[in-house]
Amino acid sequence: MIEANNLVRHYPVVTGLRSLFSADRHKVVRAVDGISFKVDAGKVLGIVGESGCGKSTTAKMLVGLESPTAGSILINKDDLGEMRIRDRHAFHRQMQMVFQDPYGSINPSHDVFQIVSRPLVYQGETDTAKIRTAVLKAMEQVGLNPPELFLSKHPHLLSGGQRQRLCIARAIVLDPAFLVADEPISMLDVSIKWDIIRLLRQLVRERDLSLVYITHDLATVPTICDDVAIMYLGKIVEIGPVREILRNPSHPYTKALIASIPSHVPGAERPAAQIEGALPDAIRPQEGCLFRDRCPVAIADCATQAPPLASTGKQMVACHLANTGKDAAHG
Ligand code: SF4
Repeated sequence: MIEANNLVRHYPVVTGLRSLFSADRHKVVRAVDGISFKVDAGKVLGIVGESGCGKSTTAKMLVGLESPTAGSILINKDDLGEMRIRDRHAFHRQMQMVFQDPYGSINPSHDVFQIVSRPLVYQGETDTAKIRTAVLKAMEQVGLNPPELFLSKHPHLLSGGQRQRLCIARAIVLDPAFLVADEPISMLDVSIKWDIIRLLRQLVRERDLSLVYITHDLATVPTICDDVAIMYLGKIVEIGPVREILRNPSHPYTKALIASIPSHVPGAERPAAQIEGALPDAIRPQEGCLFRDRCPVAIADCATQAPPLASTGKQMVACHLANTGKDAAHG
């Protein structure tokens, strides 16, 4: 199980020598501002939000590419921050990442065998028979069959979908407990993206992985996720089981995201998206609810009091109206 507790990542606005004298030296960008969640083994948590909401920063903290400003990440009760310092190899065995750009995240001069075997070599594995067996198994599991046909190929000879499968093979070759997939389908053709989503779901089931699936595409979430967290400006505004949230969204931002999902039925009516405008400044967060400038149902309290993330039954919501039991859609 993976558990994030009050995770914070702030970036200083000015760095280096300028930070000694600049009037802005105390200002920070609040990329992630106190989020908590749990993902059990064999389960998938989706993190959804528009660009700039902090979802990719969260992904980077989970895999150790960024250090949290505050808060902790636990894997089976083991603190990742301490594990990283104590034993980097154990850390990388436990957790791996699938990146958005399959071509940009692999070395184009390496062949498929070198790419998939790289994590094993990094871990100090020297038994060539063991390495080959593990590589072939990982490639079979991601659908690069027969694997022997691909071993000596270079990435530019593979299709976009095959390249993403290759990246997934590299991510699972160490048999990690935890996987982060950061927008893994956003650069793929529509015809391929559902195959990759089904593959990730299948790997989670077969390997009892915990997966955090980062996306801006809420339409893909029901296929792969058990739970979903909606992020807005560094905070989680709604979190809970996917079915509950899609059937009965409580936060106005979640409702707007759901309204923006294209329908498969020609001519079907969908509720109008209710928000306009861009994300507010992450450096000078306003008082009260961060969503209030875009919220169609804001009330007076929203300007002065930040809504806490509170339970409304099966989900947790940060909205004054939802938390007082009123329908946020109608105020
Ligand atoms: Fe809208 Fe107020 Fe709820 Fe924020 S707290 S989402 S401004 S109704």
